[in-house]
Amino acid sequence: MTDKFLDLAVAGIQGLHPYQPGKPVSELEREYGISDIVKLASNENPLGPGEAVNAAIATVLPALARYPDANGFELKAALAGRHGLPPECITLGNGSNDVLVLLAESFLAPGLEAVYSRYAFAVYGLAVQATGAEHRVADALPASHPDQPLGHDLDAMAALIGPRTRVVFIANPNNPTGTWVDAVALERFLDGVPAHVIAVVDEAYFEYVDVPGYPDASQWLQRYPNLVVTRTFSKAYGLAGLRIGYGLSDPGLAGVLNRLRQPFNSSLVAQVAALAALGDHAHLARGVALNRRELARVSAACSALGLGVIPSVGNFILVDTGTQAAPLFEALLRRGVIVRPVGNYGLPQHLRISIGTESENDRLIKALGEVLQQ
Ligand SMILES: *Cc1c(COP(=O)(O)O)cnc(C)c1O
Repeated sequence: MTDKFLDLAVAGIQGLHPYQPGKPVSELEREYGISDIVKLASNENPLGPGEAVNAAIATVLPALARYPDANGFELKAALAGRHGLPPECITLGNGSNDVLVLLAESFLAPGLEAVYSRYAFAVYGLAVQATGAEHRVADALPASHPDQPLGHDLDAMAALIGPRTRVVFIANPNNPTGTWVDAVALERFLDGVPAHVIAVVDEAYFEYVDVPGYPDASQWLQRYPNLVVTRTFSKAYGLAGLRIGYGLSDPGLAGVLNRLRQPFNSSLVAQVAALAALGDHAHLARGVALNRRELARVSAACSALGLGVIPSVGNFILVDTGTQAAPLFEALLRRGVIVRPVGNYGLPQHLRISIGTESENDRLIKALGEVLQQ
């Protein structure tokens, strides 16, 4: 290995540190020689996709020799109906991550700036860094905040917007904190975003959120022409492995993204599966109901174990262990439970725990109890 190629890379790429994904089950099996592993590390839906999706995927297998519809006609039509927007407002992505990267690549470059919050979803920083643009990272709300510890401070973010700002990222709710911003605060923020700034509201966990005052920003596209809302099939729809998400925006903005978008960035299987998932309301509702019950139960259990639990509206919780979290993470691994350390976010004492099935959560709670006693 040599750094010769790193020296050749463009400046933005030289400064990149690769995204740290949750530890795959297969890796833990190989390294520790254990089976029966519970992965609560990547905010996936423990129920996975429903029968309708599996059946739809089976129907397209004979067609895999063909390229997918580059414009995703059918899926866009269904999404347009769902959101009450024309299909021209929709940008399909290879996961919503793809849409976030398209936004950064389209609107950022050296000399320009992006604004986001400390502890915001790590992909914003990576996408910005790759373009060579400047990061303007706003301080988060304090850990002692009564409702939204470590949450986005929209006033602090607004204060960082300047003439060179082109993109501002808001995760609602945010990962890894599970915090959220309400409709009144978000509207006030968007009212102040100048026309030269693209406001990206990332609603990856939208379907899970069940609190009064939580906004559906997709309904605001008329009012805020520079607004982009991103959604995904990776979380509540249970399709993380397929990679499909989308952006909703003004058609002109979608047209910009479409110049850069790879023509076949969403696969045939992903388009068909997403369409089926969108129509299977009962399966979605089952997953959301399970999460609601288990989020409350796991949160309470973690509090009872003495961990500091940040109230979450997603399908995961961030807990403050009050000590270095890395050894706890390792001890949980040895018990076959994978959670997510978040030292890369500047939170070395915290762990992010995804909400699983009842039995997976039982395993987690038991293992946590054991490792905290040691
Ligand atoms: C998981 C996640 C995403 C996107 O995931 P994709 O699988 O690329 O759609 C986007 N934003 C946040 C905040 C997330 O947690």
